[in-house]
Amino acid sequence: MSDFPDIPPGISLADALRSAPLDALENRILIGHALQLTRIQLITQSERLLTAAEATQLSALLRRRLQGEPIAYLVGEREFFGLAMQVTPDVLIPRPDTELLVELALERLPLQGKALDMGTGSGAIAVAIAHTRPDVAMTALDVSEAALKVAASNAQRHGAKVDFLRSDWYAALGEVAAPYLDLIVSNPPYIVAGDAHLSQGDLRFEPIAALTDHADGLSALRIIIDGAAAYLKPDGWLLMEHGYDQSEAVRKLLAQRGFAEVQSWRDLAGIERVSGGKLPRAS
Ligand code: GLN
Repeated sequence: MSDFPDIPPGISLADALRSAPLDALENRILIGHALQLTRIQLITQSERLLTAAEATQLSALLRRRLQGEPIAYLVGEREFFGLAMQVTPDVLIPRPDTELLVELALERLPLQGKALDMGTGSGAIAVAIAHTRPDVAMTALDVSEAALKVAASNAQRHGAKVDFLRSDWYAALGEVAAPYLDLIVSNPPYIVAGDAHLSQGDLRFEPIAALTDHADGLSALRIIIDGAAAYLKPDGWLLMEHGYDQSEAVRKLLAQRGFAEVQSWRDLAGIERVSGGKLPRAS
């Protein structure tokens, strides 16, 4: 369905919900957003009539959705790890599967540990960790200034203490006298250049630099793995999300760099989605 008749002014909320062109759930979300009404208010105020301005605004929003814009960008937020995260087209929309990365990180972070999130985007991972574990010293970096603004607003919104840094992977961290991190996490761009998914669904509207390395899909993962030892303390963990078919390649890269306990974990769909390893103590 590419178009639909405008929502007429004076229509009741109940009729608007019935006649809007999306499925029931999406109609509810977008009408609630356009009219600033909660799910409960949508029910209790079902007799309420839409003003002309509301009807126009709603029609425009529905039309954008029909053209494929992700719901999260239209309403400006998406829930991640139980927290409402602000999202804009400058950042990837947080995926439920990425909560696995947060859980694995939380299990491994020592009390008052130091953690780094590389390519933080919306800040979802870093904010979820820092919100759950206020004892942790959390740093998050991204090369995109626009993404860092969104991430900082999410940290503030949830009272999470995160230090943000603009950096092209490790570049701005510079040389350090001694490794100081207990954990590095990252959900980097890992989709192979030209993959059909990039031109389908929500991905068409997401920042391309957050999705693909424009190469074999492993180049960002390689940079992260190759640089980690300079910053990770002995026994420190590196955990990375990757593509559905990359776990073997990522485990191999980790093993080549001397990581121990190299393993992969499955996402909600049962696919190996996160791999990681522990930096051994020098012998
Ligand atoms: N998981 C995302 C997707 O396939 C990609 C995220 C990423 O490249 N880091 O839709």
